[in-house]
Amino acid sequence: VPIKAALLSQRAVAGVGNIYADEALWRARIHPLRPARRLTRHEVRALHQAIREVMAAAVEAQGTTLYDYRTVAGEVGAYRERLAVYGHAGEPCPRCGSAIERLVVGQRGTHACPRCQRRPRREKR
Ligand SMILES: [Zn+2]
Repeated sequence: VPIKAALLSQRAVAGVGNIYADEALWRARIHPLRPARRLTRHEVRALHQAIREVMAAAVEAQGTTLYDYRTVAGEVGAYRERLAVYGHAGEPCPRCGSAIERLVVGQRGTHACPRCQRRPRREKR
């Protein structure tokens, strides 16, 4: 299963939605299509750390308003301004400047940097 789909399935980790999965994978430099079982111990640790950082920063910013989400006080979530890849297809990666790509993984719009997150070679069967 691609790591992005594994995150969205909520089976191994609960609470990471589509936006934060893309942001955490970018931070950990892991391509969303990488098979979850092929991640190295080092990558799993990096991803765990990245998820914690992204979720903590998002909570701090009171979430991410893309359309109509509001906090209980009626305000927009400010994390949208801090998104590195989500919703930024075609724009420069904040880390390396390459154009962010949009792909579909597990039927969800997915965003990744083609240079920072190396795409896996097709697996032999
Ligand atoms: Zn990059």
